[in-house]
Amino acid sequence: MNGAELAAAVRRADVGYQVFAERLEDPIAYEGDHAFHFSTKDNLCSIDFQTRSGSRILEGYRPPFDATAIERLRKAGGLLIGKTNMDEFGFGSFSTNSAIGVPRNPFDLERCCGGSSGGAAAAASLIEDHLAVGVSTGGSISCPASFCGVVGLTPTYGRVSRWGLIDYGTSLDKVGLLSASSAPIRRYLPVISGPDPLDPTSQTQPPLDMSGGIDSVAVPEEMVADLSDDMRDAFQEAVGKLEGMGVEVLKVAMPALRYALPAYYILATAEASTNMARYCGMRYGDIVEDTDLGFNELFSSVRSRGLGSETKRRILLGTFCRMVGLRDRYYIKALQVRQLVIRQYEEAFQGADAVLTPTMPYVAPRFDEIETMTALEAYHADILTVPPNLAGLPHISLPCAYIGGMPAGMQLAAPHWKEGRLLSLAERWESEFQYRIPEGRT
Ligand code: GLN
Repeated sequence: MNGAELAAAVRRADVGYQVFAERLEDPIAYEGDHAFHFSTKDNLCSIDFQTRSGSRILEGYRPPFDATAIERLRKAGGLLIGKTNMDEFGFGSFSTNSAIGVPRNPFDLERCCGGSSGGAAAAASLIEDHLAVGVSTGGSISCPASFCGVVGLTPTYGRVSRWGLIDYGTSLDKVGLLSASSAPIRRYLPVISGPDPLDPTSQTQPPLDMSGGIDSVAVPEEMVADLSDDMRDAFQEAVGKLEGMGVEVLKVAMPALRYALPAYYILATAEASTNMARYCGMRYGDIVEDTDLGFNELFSSVRSRGLGSETKRRILLGTFCRMVGLRDRYYIKALQVRQLVIRQYEEAFQGADAVLTPTMPYVAPRFDEIETMTALEAYHADILTVPPNLAGLPHISLPCAYIGGMPAGMQLAAPHWKEGRLLSLAERWESEFQYRIPEGRT
């Protein structure tokens, strides 16, 4: 596929904005002297581009610096070809909460890409050998990877610097990678990894070790109990294939995982509600000047106009959970659940190399289905992706089935710093299971 055809496909799926399609059309930029090309989710700061995190409030914000992950990829010879669309500030699972249009699933343009790194997954699915940088707080790499039929790797919390990332939930945010197969991720994860003096939560860490694979997986029974029939059958078939590859599959009980979703929505919104406070109309993007308004009026008018309704909901929810008098009942309790989840993973890893579930409870929903969902129904989509994110564990989503032509993924979570295990299993899986590419790509 040449650059012009690619640009057309990228426009059809509305994967990003700014120079994305133009760079693909430009032979010098696209086929020029670069080791590789990549895109980044719109919540990572990058020189030469606006960085809006999918929000109206950041319209026109041009950061004067690169996020560490972007800087490292550029130094390795990468050409940044565009910013990918996303749910505003990462709030969502379908990328329908963006102020800059909605990316469409390359397998069916009437369906969503997943979220919140939806444009990243669409780009990875449409463009051969493309490396898409994504970010996950509670599943935003796994979810769109599953819906768009690509590989999505979320690293251990602290492996990749968060410098230059527009925060959602500071104790949860992780920069990761998506691509049509695991090879580019194996190549470039070490490039973006490593401690960074600019991010105190980035850690000195063991290097990526690809020598140890996965001989056994634990499947938590309560996590596969509520699947649709289609999804259960598809997942069982994938489990059968893994067994055929010599992987031992153990059924385990991890009852605390049931509470991971409500705990996540308390912790993530609590952190988000404080992180959103900086958007007051006086620092970034949509700056209001010459106003006679007092601070409170200014603050409310800028935020009423600049923030989307899901963002407002999250600020209210998070502020509520942190209020004096309610804090113990919600926020502190959610922290306790987080500890239980971590402990239950530790126990599971004593008997198995990884924990396996489907990635999402269903394939990518159609936009008309999403419109009729309540907020709670939408949050429920994250039931399987939230647990490893709460525990800061590395996890990968791999395409494992096609249901009515739509891709479905399986998700493997490994102990901290064991990304190598996940990536070496991915390599083996790819020799057994053929990933499909969307029609728009040849
Ligand atoms: N869908 C989840 C949420 O809305 C996760 C999003 C993310 O990881 N950024 O919070």
